[in-house]
Amino acid sequence: MTEPATVRHLGVVHDRGPVDLPAARRAVADLLVALGKDPAAEHLLDTPRRVADAYAELLSPRDFRLTTFPNDETYDGLVVAKGIPVRSLCEHHLLPFHGVAHVGYLPGDRILGLSKLARVVELFARDLQVQERLTQQVADWLRDHLAPKGVGVVIEAEHLCMSLRGVQATGARTVTSALHGLLREDRGSRQEFFALTGIGA
Ligand code: ZN
Repeated sequence: MTEPATVRHLGVVHDRGPVDLPAARRAVADLLVALGKDPAAEHLLDTPRRVADAYAELLSPRDFRLTTFPNDETYDGLVVAKGIPVRSLCEHHLLPFHGVAHVGYLPGDRILGLSKLARVVELFARDLQVQERLTQQVADWLRDHLAPKGVGVVIEAEHLCMSLRGVQATGARTVTSALHGLLREDRGSRQEFFALTGIGA
């Protein structure tokens, strides 16, 4: 894919260690034993590998470069990507939480490809997380890398650690938001953002 000469590449820094797959497989086998299961049983033989691979995938964001473009049309309205899928792992239970993110910004001098908003969500979702921090990290990252006039992030998610166990609040969704700049300070912009995301302001 060729890129316009004017794009600016903003590198992504990964501060997480790589997944040690052999160690993860051994640990899953140990966990099976601790849970009273026999990892040598025929139907469990391949489970340590599958579990290790699944966690490795859920914890490894795909590399991407955030390419931004000059805001030549000086578009000054809200840009909102709604319903971006979110799949992450709760750091308290190692169980998934999943839902959608609505990510918006008020452009400054630069705009970015819409598909990149989903990649920013994925960058932070593929980690051991709590929903509040995930929401804030996406908002902070866009503020720091895009320098927009405002940023808004809303995440609605169901946590399996809530719906499968504990209080068993099946279908309960947790909503979190993080706002920067004009979306935080200007009531009209904030209301417009929440109206576009379908969240009551
Ligand atoms: Zn949890």
